[in-house]
Amino acid sequence: MKIAFHGAARTVTGSKHLISLKNGKKILLDCGMFQGMGRETDAMNEDFGFDAAEVTYMILSHAHIDHSGLIPLLVKRGFKGTIYCTPATFDLTEILLLDSAKIQEDDTKFKNKKLRKEGQPEVAPLYTVDDATRSVAALKKVDYKTWFRIDEDVEIYFTDAGHIIGSAAVHVRIAENGKTTQISFSGDIGRYNDAILRSPDIFPQADYILLESTYGSTLHAEAAPSDDLLIKYIHDTCKVKKGKLIIPAFSVGRTQEILYALNRAGLEGKLPKVDIFVDSPLSLEATDVVRHHPEVFNKTVAKMMEIDDDPFDFPGLHYIERVDDSKALNFRQEPCVIISASGMAEAGRVKHHIANNIGDSRNTILIVGYCEPQSLGGRLMRGAREVSIYGTHYDVNAEVGVIRSMSAHGDYEDLSQWLSCQDAKEVKKLFLVHGEYEVQQIFRNWLIKKGFSDVEIPERHSEIGLG
Ligand SMILES: [Zn+2]
Repeated sequence: MKIAFHGAARTVTGSKHLISLKNGKKILLDCGMFQGMGRETDAMNEDFGFDAAEVTYMILSHAHIDHSGLIPLLVKRGFKGTIYCTPATFDLTEILLLDSAKIQEDDTKFKNKKLRKEGQPEVAPLYTVDDATRSVAALKKVDYKTWFRIDEDVEIYFTDAGHIIGSAAVHVRIAENGKTTQISFSGDIGRYNDAILRSPDIFPQADYILLESTYGSTLHAEAAPSDDLLIKYIHDTCKVKKGKLIIPAFSVGRTQEILYALNRAGLEGKLPKVDIFVDSPLSLEATDVVRHHPEVFNKTVAKMMEIDDDPFDFPGLHYIERVDDSKALNFRQEPCVIISASGMAEAGRVKHHIANNIGDSRNTILIVGYCEPQSLGGRLMRGAREVSIYGTHYDVNAEVGVIRSMSAHGDYEDLSQWLSCQDAKEVKKLFLVHGEYEVQQIFRNWLIKKGFSDVEIPERHSEIGLG
């Protein structure tokens, strides 16, 4: 058999890996969207590097758009198989794909308006709500930690990845030529001792491993101070400077993590009295899905729920759904906190909030997650003094804050802990995916020292024989 790396290869988004069996079957691991790759992004999303109609089935590690976002395009281009995922991923993917399709349609309408004015031919969306609806019908739930037989040659097994709710590492056992081979794909690995989720789980011995490497050269600070930092930013911005604190955050995962931290601070009497807005209809839906999957929470959350039946809600929290209410926040004079998607500030309502508030030194833009270097969040993180948003130039007068330790990705110690259940000598090859190339090279050397003799950093669209 062979494996080809069609996305998240020497970069962090677009996760897509295709296993081809000798008998012609093709198994796709994730079908993620490239995000924040500058002008290249659209072209990269159009170019799968394989024929969608030839894919037999797909396995999805978790719901994040950079892992699931091109499923509707896969279906549009002729994929007819089943997509296997965990129950919580099933629920989250449903709302995320429909939302993503709506964004594609709205963006295209906006572009076409401009093109019509210029007398240029109109463009079609990458996919539509209709394609997303057909994709959702292809999803099938498989529980954690039970071997599930897909057909006579292939079995799959999900273990908890501790990254977002429903996130899994995917283990595929394939029988070929009388021999069984296990390929283990980490998906995105979260942190051990996460505030909400259970830690990543151990897994059976693999022959080949695909390992994410987002923070392969980083050690995060302790988890606890990030909550204190968050409260400090709210206090300094809203109470001292009397400004607005804008936090770009993924609707799924990071938003709930922030709400949980704020709720806990509220219970401890540490939360400054200020209005907090979650300006993302998707976050409201996602928080609801999270509430309905208490089975994924760790013991600390379960314990908190004994005294507080909703760990994601507290006085002063408001959800904004309607666009008019979102726009009304621009005219609000009082200090407040606005949590809004997307996490890299590349799209979504947060981009408008940043445009409206970046010029005022009383305000703060607080980055709390990974940002592609070319994305708006990435440019701000690197200290840009001037940025272009929707074609208009803005001076960066607002303070830009970063809380690095609030990551949903493990650092290299976490990744190493995830690998610690494996006998390195039994692993024939370890592929590093989902990371920036410079980071991957450092991580590769570190893994070799740990006893993994063959560590490869595959290029996009490269195909490598296994076994
Ligand atoms: Zn993820």
